[in-house]
Amino acid sequence: MKVVVIGGGINGLCCAWQLALNNISVSLLEKGSLMSQTSRSSSKLLHGGLRYLENFEFNLVYESLKERNWWLENVPDLTNELHMILPIYENGPRNRWIIKLGLFFYDIVSGGYNISKHKWISKEELAILSPDLNTKGLIGGFQFSDGQMDDYKLGMWVAEQAENDGVKIMNDTTVEKIDLDGNITFNGEEKKYDYIINACGPWASELLNNSGFKGKYKLDLIRGSHIIFKGEPSQPYFLQAEKDGRIFFVLPYNGNTLVGTTEVRQNLNNPIAPSDKEIAYLLHEYNNYFLNQKTTTDIIEKFAGVRPLISSSSNPKNIKREYKIETMGKIINIYGGKWTTSMLLGRKVVKKILA
Ligand SMILES: Cc1cc2nc3c(=O)[nH]c(=O)nc-3n(C[C@H](O)[C@H](O)[C@H](O)COP(=O)(O)OP(=O)(O)OC[C@H]3O[C@@H](n4cnc5c(N)ncnc54)[C@H](O)[C@@H]3O)c2cc1C
Repeated sequence: MKVVVIGGGINGLCCAWQLALNNISVSLLEKGSLMSQTSRSSSKLLHGGLRYLENFEFNLVYESLKERNWWLENVPDLTNELHMILPIYENGPRNRWIIKLGLFFYDIVSGGYNISKHKWISKEELAILSPDLNTKGLIGGFQFSDGQMDDYKLGMWVAEQAENDGVKIMNDTTVEKIDLDGNITFNGEEKKYDYIINACGPWASELLNNSGFKGKYKLDLIRGSHIIFKGEPSQPYFLQAEKDGRIFFVLPYNGNTLVGTTEVRQNLNNPIAPSDKEIAYLLHEYNNYFLNQKTTTDIIEKFAGVRPLISSSSNPKNIKREYKIETMGKIINIYGGKWTTSMLLGRKVVKKILA
């Protein structure tokens, strides 16, 4: 059997590797270079997604927690555990007991895949653990566990495994058209495959439209931006934004501080970059929590990526993070999909093809 995977982000790479492990002949075509789009612009978390419990996405959280452990166990050199601090203030956006309930469910849903159970940390203990945190109105905080990765290096590790197992990877190759019989057009050539995997992430619908098809699911393209400051924070933080109650992260990353993210609709015809408004939002929210105040001159790096989310709400923060796999003739379309669950998605695509 011959399969072509279109798109060299984490979802395409995991599909390609899993197919090759099942003795299928696989080519992967990427229009730019591997791991150059959404998959290298993430918050670098291997997580269940505590906040998805608010949207009742229990299955996604369960799958993600299980998959988080797969990465931590199988690629320890490029991943690590994070013991996240969630500080609680008087008059915070969410009640302490609601958060406690969420963390209780997070532990339950983790089941056998839990790293360690959440715990309460008193205001006094927190002042020692987190000397960088603003203590005005601080009641205490919770500590809970998740995972972290270097998204680019981990994605390139998957690419290396895939190549070692026989996947033929071609960069700088844009697929212009696909059809239901397994034909694809690129570089003015047409080739036939037994299956085509459309793993183009935010561009999945564009490829279908260019080919004259409309998929079952509509993608909502939501940009997320990050900024980086020099030097590490004392702890990894899971924080609630003052302005809108959104969750954002302040994380140690490669010796620096990663702050993100935002949720803003993106048109793919425009450059994918953080806007001034997003940067002002992230600085405001960071400064609301930390004693060491930052300005734009402290930003040493910034980046943005586009989440390919399945349309489910007019408010970006309420759009569900679930993914879907759709079969259309010889085409298998991937819609959405978190970094954390990419290997599982690859295994599900194999199951569909071998069913
Ligand atoms: C700001 C942000 C933070 C996130 N944080 C996390 C996190 O902490 N943890 C987590 O689990 N998930 C996170 N996610 C989600 C996760 O990063 C994405 O869901 C995932 O990376 C999507 O991967 P992908 O392979 O589908 O898309 P992409 O990485 O975008 O890959 C698609 C590829 O297809 C290629 N392509 C497009 N069209 C064509 C064509 N016609 N021919 C050939 N190639 C084509 C593109 O060039 C691209 O390389 C985050 C997402 C964002 C945006």
